Amino acid sequence: ASGYTLMRDPRHNKGVAFTERERDAHYLHGLLPPIVLSQELQEKRIMHMLRQYKVPLQRYMAMMDLQERNERLFYKLLIDNVEELLPVVYTPTVGEACQKYGSIFRRPQGLYISLKEKGKILEVLKNWPERSVQVIVVTDGERILGLGDLGCQGMGIPVGKLSLYTALGGVRPSAVSITKTTSFRDCFSLFLFSFSPNGRVCNENGVTDDFLQCLPITIDVGTNNEKLLNDEFYIGLRQRRATGQEYTELLHEFMSAVKQNYGEKVLIQFEDFANHNAFELLARYSSSHLVFNDDIQGTASVVLAGLLAALKLLGGTLADHRFLFLGAGEAGTGIAELIALEMSKQTGNPIEENRKKIWLVDSKGLIVDSRKHSLQQFKKPWAHEHEPVSKLVDAVKAIKPTVLIGTSGVGKQFTREVVEAMASINEKPLIMALSNPTSQAECTAEEAYTWSEGRAIFASGSPFDPFEYDGKVFVPGQANNAYIFPGFGLGVIMSGAIRVHDDMLLAASEALAAQVTEEHFKKGLIYPPFSDIRKISANIAAKVAAKAYELGLASHLPQPEDLVKYAESCMYSPVYRTYR
Ligand code: NAP
Ligand code: MN
Repeated sequence: ASGYTLMRDPRHNKGVAFTERERDAHYLHGLLPPIVLSQELQEKRIMHMLRQYKVPLQRYMAMMDLQERNERLFYKLLIDNVEELLPVVYTPTVGEACQKYGSIFRRPQGLYISLKEKGKILEVLKNWPERSVQVIVVTDGERILGLGDLGCQGMGIPVGKLSLYTALGGVRPSAVSITKTTSFRDCFSLFLFSFSPNGRVCNENGVTDDFLQCLPITIDVGTNNEKLLNDEFYIGLRQRRATGQEYTELLHEFMSAVKQNYGEKVLIQFEDFANHNAFELLARYSSSHLVFNDDIQGTASVVLAGLLAALKLLGGTLADHRFLFLGAGEAGTGIAELIALEMSKQTGNPIEENRKKIWLVDSKGLIVDSRKHSLQQFKKPWAHEHEPVSKLVDAVKAIKPTVLIGTSGVGKQFTREVVEAMASINEKPLIMALSNPTSQAECTAEEAYTWSEGRAIFASGSPFDPFEYDGKVFVPGQANNAYIFPGFGLGVIMSGAIRVHDDMLLAASEALAAQVTEEHFKKGLIYPPFSDIRKISANIAAKVAAKAYELGLASHLPQPEDLVKYAESCMYSPVYRTYR
């Protein structure tokens, strides 16, 4: 029975890679076909199978099946083939998966907390089998990717995001281990593990295996998505979204229960909340909890990194530039604020001064002081003195920005007129078309390069292929949040930080920008190649941790001497272990 348990446990299962000795020792003979394959061959076989699937959703489901069957193989695939598989386990395919979650739903992969659990959230958390949790990614499903309100079916997002924390940042994964949850005694009888007094588990090689886990959570307060409300396979509460006090109270109970159950050092990442709630939750809990919002802060950090790198091409310091944003939501105002903060670090000027170099346009036009009374709180710092301007192209002509950033979610807004205006003002206009997916990009790489006669420095939210203009090949950078949050999370965890401080975000940006080399700049790139992500994450983690120590926010003491080496040593490796 123990061999069977081992095989059924995704954390320990190796499939046909169990060696003869392991099959002898753990009564596995006959439970597996006679061949023994290496992990590399298994990987090759599954990649081959995945590539046969023409429908992206089939690949997604095959990957989810693998995660539930053989966790290490799942992560080995993801790590070794990161550029190919990221779009499968995360955007864009995860979006489609969420839309169809009701139909493809198999086994729950995370924790569901709905209005029904009000008053009992702590008990619900205790139902989760892992006792020690390091990272929680939580959504309320109201603004999933660019797809809007997907209610309870947003669960695909925290699940996917956490698998990236593991694959890209080396944070230990979330799969529930049958061995551990149902029968600790099995473990002992297998002589796999022995428990050390500090709560760590050691296998017989003396390698410690922390109970550090990732927990995906979806908070279901209903949905305003009519299609889902009428879908007989919808998995969530069939009611319209709770708002106001009812919403606030449920979230407050949740935040309190998390701290009570897991303590001070669990990183709570808010993901894909609608912007009014996103800003409020972050403001309310950032002084009492370890919270991070990737849509606001992660985006800000990755875009700032691109800007810092681009300065090497543009010349001048950050404070020498003028910024114009199209879109003043989570991404736009989050980026704007971090830019202003970095300017303050560099110049010593008060942040209010620096904000004046940054302008934003929302759906009602340029944000100016005469609109102040009707602006949402998070937009107010950006209402500068100026007459009203309604069209983007006129705002470009009036403000004369050196940098133009698109975060509106609306495609095709950087028209020929807009790009030409940027190119007539600047020798090298920096243009970032960040809206996703590709169809919503403010302009394409080709348009940016062509309309600026090859002078633009361009980066985007969705990937674009290299483009040849006038005999020169330009490689557009992708401002992918996945550059930052995995390394950021690892840095927070390894230092035992108890709060997120903005300076830690700045440290992450600087660490990422420092990874861009001369060779990348020559191609017009302002981000390093994504294939180096594990190395990049280790560097980011080290800088984030160093900042946490410097600020006195770190609790893992003493501070390790070489933080990059320490980060690397903390990173999860998907290579199979040997079971004696
Ligand atoms: P959000 O909070 O909903 O904000 C959208 C903003 O755009 C709002 O300020 C909205 O104006 C404005 N807007 C909408 N339509 C507009 C129009 N026609 N003209 C001018 N402004 C308009 O969304 P978000 O979270 O910031 O995300 C925005 C976009 O950024 C998405 O497409 C997302 O995919 C992308 N993004 C990219 C990255 C990345 O590249 N790494 C990261 C995060 C987000 P009102 O305030 O007046 O409604
Ligand atoms: Mn998001």
